[in-house]
Amino acid sequence: IPPVNGDFYELGKMLPHHEREIQLRVREFMEKEIKPIANDYWNRAEFPMHIIPKMAELDIAGLTYQGYGCPGYSALLEGFIAMEMARVDTSISTFFGVQSGLAMGSVYLCGSEQQKQEWLPSMQKLEKIGAFGLTEPEVGSGAAGGLTTTCKRQGDTWTINGQKKWIGNATFSDMTVIWARDLEDNQVKGFIVRKDNPGFHAEKLKDKMALRTVQNALITLTNCEVPESDRLQNANSFKDTAKVLRMTRAGVAWQAVGCARGAYELALAYTNERKQFGRPIASFQLVQDLLVTMLGDLTAMQTMVFRLSQMQDNDELLDEHASLAKVFCTLRMRSIVDHARELFGGNGILLQHDIARFVADAEAVYSYEGTKEINSLIVGRAITGHSAFV
Ligand code: FAD
Repeated sequence: IPPVNGDFYELGKMLPHHEREIQLRVREFMEKEIKPIANDYWNRAEFPMHIIPKMAELDIAGLTYQGYGCPGYSALLEGFIAMEMARVDTSISTFFGVQSGLAMGSVYLCGSEQQKQEWLPSMQKLEKIGAFGLTEPEVGSGAAGGLTTTCKRQGDTWTINGQKKWIGNATFSDMTVIWARDLEDNQVKGFIVRKDNPGFHAEKLKDKMALRTVQNALITLTNCEVPESDRLQNANSFKDTAKVLRMTRAGVAWQAVGCARGAYELALAYTNERKQFGRPIASFQLVQDLLVTMLGDLTAMQTMVFRLSQMQDNDELLDEHASLAKVFCTLRMRSIVDHARELFGGNGILLQHDIARFVADAEAVYSYEGTKEINSLIVGRAITGHSAFV
């Protein structure tokens, strides 16, 4: 039986040797430390806090940033790391994406020198955990123009009022980046809100059917006072928020590749073990056809995100590039995890076989960081010259 390998065109081998070693170290970490506990934590909807120091040893947070203790590797390696994590557990990859991409990225792209010095080195070591609060209970897709959370300045103090929903890591994060509309100039501003701020309250969202290990919160900000020194000094409008999202959307496309790859590999292994009619089900033509369809999609996704990251590394990445990859990869991911579950028959809905978790988690990846519709409209606007947004 040939080895199970979802990287059919061996794209991982195109990483420089030292980056390839890091990719394989992350794979080993995920298989040794996360795989054995993934279903249990998912089932209990708890986060395995004890893995944070072990993950820190990998030295991969803020991977592409220059300075502040960050290693300054390529966006391509960052993509491979997101893929390796999601290949085993999409929840862990989401925790890491929020920390390294959304939270650290907001400070890196929009923070002052002093803010970067204060937060990035400790967040890089995962000593301090971050979260990113943009979405609200009534405002998701329309965040660009519709945020209802407000901020008002008086002297050197800002007062923030409003609610944020779905905020990953926020039940235990040391800081949460909160995006709010300035009542004076109507522009969106970003704030670092510390966990001990008396105006900040985070409540865990219960009964999720996807990414159950990720701790998502409903945040309520009640006359939450933040000093001017904790306002992100280079976030002056939603355009600055969008810079962060462009970068992280590329990461979500890679996550979709990882989730799909994990599901494909599980299905391929299972079809060789499972026997019906006295033969491995992998020997049946219809099963092979399904596996090859999955592999074709997976390989197309991998080559797409590979090129996407090259563009990121060359500073050529535009919003529509990231959005197209997010749309395409999450759509194909959904189809691959469904086919994989199908190949498990009834066992496909038992958590112990892992694949059920992949099917459920794919639903969240499909919707977050911009739904299919919103990312399609971003691409549509770019290729037609007409904006379909109101
Ligand atoms: P809605 O905006 O209400 O959309 C509902 C439907 O309407 C969708 O199908 C959408 O595509 C469609 N729709 C909306 N507008 C249009 C239009 N103009 N044209 C066509 N169709 C349209 N947010 C954060 O800020 N921080 C986080 O850490 C975070 N983590 C998340 C984790 C999870 C597990 C999930 C599920 C979400 C998370 N989010 C987070 C929020 C996420 O980004 C939003 O769920 C997403 O942007 C969609 O918003 P919504 O859920 O409010 O859906």
